[in-house]
Amino acid sequence: MTQQPDTLTTALDYAARGWRVFPLLPGSKRPATPNHRAADCDQTDPWCRTGHAGWEQRATDRTDWITRAWSSNPASGIGIACGPSRLVVVDLDTHKPGSEIPEPWHRFEITTGEDVLDHLAGVRGGTINPTYTVRTPSGGAHLYYAAPAGGRAFGNTAGKIGWLIDTRAHGGYVAAPPTTIGASAYTVVNDRPPAELPMFLLDLLTRDHQPAARASQDRSPDGSGRPARRNRTAGSGEPVRDQSAYVDRVFDIAIHGDRERRVAGLLDATKGGRNAALYVAAATVGKLVARGLITEHAAVDRLMAAAAGHIAARAYTPYEAESTILSGFRRAATRSAA
Ligand SMILES: [Zn+2]
Repeated sequence: MTQQPDTLTTALDYAARGWRVFPLLPGSKRPATPNHRAADCDQTDPWCRTGHAGWEQRATDRTDWITRAWSSNPASGIGIACGPSRLVVVDLDTHKPGSEIPEPWHRFEITTGEDVLDHLAGVRGGTINPTYTVRTPSGGAHLYYAAPAGGRAFGNTAGKIGWLIDTRAHGGYVAAPPTTIGASAYTVVNDRPPAELPMFLLDLLTRDHQPAARASQDRSPDGSGRPARRNRTAGSGEPVRDQSAYVDRVFDIAIHGDRERRVAGLLDATKGGRNAALYVAAATVGKLVARGLITEHAAVDRLMAAAAGHIAARAYTPYEAESTILSGFRRAATRSAA
């Protein structure tokens, strides 16, 4: 094990950088607080006096609060709430051995989010500025970028930029060094102030969902992969992949519903129906996981991103959302096994 500064020292260092932190359960990526669901909030928790407060509201750069939290629980990991910290963190995952690699990445022998990002930067003529970088226990990386000033507030995305690439902003957090999961820790690999978000990433993040017909018009006509300005296929010049198109369609129905078939989606849910809607969406998407069309990790992330609004509305905590999603997956797995 490499020697790392203790959690308290590091949490104070993050606060000095203007980042808002909150403790994670020891050995876990889950927030340590709040310890109760929004629905069960009796407002006796000091944080909840004026209404239930989730991890994003509790994240702080106050040294007295940080000192108290990590002195009493030095084994707690550190979560950084990206939105209040004015960060957009690019989360680069790695391909899980044994799961299928979608085209065009299979053909390029690309199996990591880092390589997908390099490829996207290449075809879009972009540059990945060196920035504060963390290696994750799973071998992925977190690139911390400064959120664009004065612009729109970014939420989380999952796979919007590209395969194995998620982003965390408002409604999202990252586990930060020296948080430890099992035997391995999050470690800093490039300690420098967060760089500006690269333009090509900003462009990819702010593009709107477009109808398929529009996307094909925008494709670079010579198939060279030279970036058309709003190229929906991320500049690869490849035809839309059948399998990922199918996966996207199932997610779309689970999240947005299907008006024709009168199926409600996750986003349609209000008030008391939000948790049930998340469960139903997870059970729908869980079929894809059961069939190996998408990894459980990626599917959880996409649903969590879609549920961000409900989480912000305090219908459930991220931890509760994840539990609900996983039970939806279990149901789907049981059904497809039967
Ligand atoms: Zn509460």
